Amino acid sequence: MYRDTWMEVDLDAIADNVRSIHQICGKRIIAVIKADAYGCGDIQVAKACLDAGAEMLAVSSLDEAMMLRNEGYGGEVLILGAVNPEDALVLSENGISTAAFSLDWVKEVVKHDCSGMKVHLAVDTGMNRIGFREIREMEEARDILLHAGVKLTGIFTHFCCTDTSREMTDRQYLKFAEAVKALDYPFEWIHCDNSDATIFFRDSLSNACRVGISLYGISGFKKDLKPALGLYTKLVMSKLVPAGETIGYGATYETKTTERIGTIPIGYADGFIRANQGRKVCIDGCYAEVVGRVCMDQTMIRLPEEKQIGSVVEIFGSHIPLEQMAAELHTIPYEIISLISGRVTRLYRKNGKISSESNERILKSEI
Ligand SMILES: *Cc1c(COP(=O)(O)O)cnc(C)c1O
Repeated sequence: MYRDTWMEVDLDAIADNVRSIHQICGKRIIAVIKADAYGCGDIQVAKACLDAGAEMLAVSSLDEAMMLRNEGYGGEVLILGAVNPEDALVLSENGISTAAFSLDWVKEVVKHDCSGMKVHLAVDTGMNRIGFREIREMEEARDILLHAGVKLTGIFTHFCCTDTSREMTDRQYLKFAEAVKALDYPFEWIHCDNSDATIFFRDSLSNACRVGISLYGISGFKKDLKPALGLYTKLVMSKLVPAGETIGYGATYETKTTERIGTIPIGYADGFIRANQGRKVCIDGCYAEVVGRVCMDQTMIRLPEEKQIGSVVEIFGSHIPLEQMAAELHTIPYEIISLISGRVTRLYRKNGKISSESNERILKSEI
């Protein structure tokens, strides 16, 4: 790594969070590592979760699942999104489970070589994204799939309002329970709880939890999970700018007096979006405002006092929690971290030490 802009991913904290979540729910853990583990590095996060006791990985697509297989992961993996029916053979040959989510999909998939393929029935209880809405259709799907030699290994639903509405979650849960009961099938995996539901809802029907964001210590409900992420850069230039000058594209900021302006090598192409203008970053324990427009690769900040070139600048971390940054940008932590682009080096902390950089893939035998 040559450019001093990096995201720190604390694998020790992630492992601790997996153990804490397991203690809270007492169920098997499905670690949701879709979208490159929310931008944190799927292989590294997966390994930390599996070592800490997670029993299945969940991803969003067949490409993401195949990436895990190509890295040597031989364990359970579930695709939560839609896979093309014609890719049935790829799924069965690689022992990858996928969501069976509509009668159309089921009727299409059995036209292909799908014997031995593993599916989890996706039940739509109110999210209206993918999944079966009618029990009658689920029963038909069950029979078609079993007849074709497909293995019905699980059933799941996804809650839409675990961060806001207990009532909605209750209603969705009852629908799910009704479907599970009606199907009367010995599903090995029954799961509905995402991170928030795992912590506050704790249902008695499911036997596994599907957690993503809480792996990183982010939850509206449990404050004693450990924050695992930080985004940092370093000051590359600092100068005094006289009153009445403007900063950056569009000249949107004018100095009021002589101001000390610093430059940091992070911009919107790193995922530090332009809406960050006017927000603060933290340098050596001092807060500095982002002044002028965020550029593609660089950003200017107004320093409250002189700072050494090379001083570490925190974008989010222990001084500015990711949740605070998300709130200030009117978004959610998921969006901020999954938008951090590939050119930002990921540094992994393990056993208290920074152990690896993102650009070196972990050896196959390690996972
Ligand atoms: C992303 C996702 C999850 C994980 O949600 P978190 O809120 O990050 O725990 C669980 N289930 C499904 C279907 C998802 O798409």
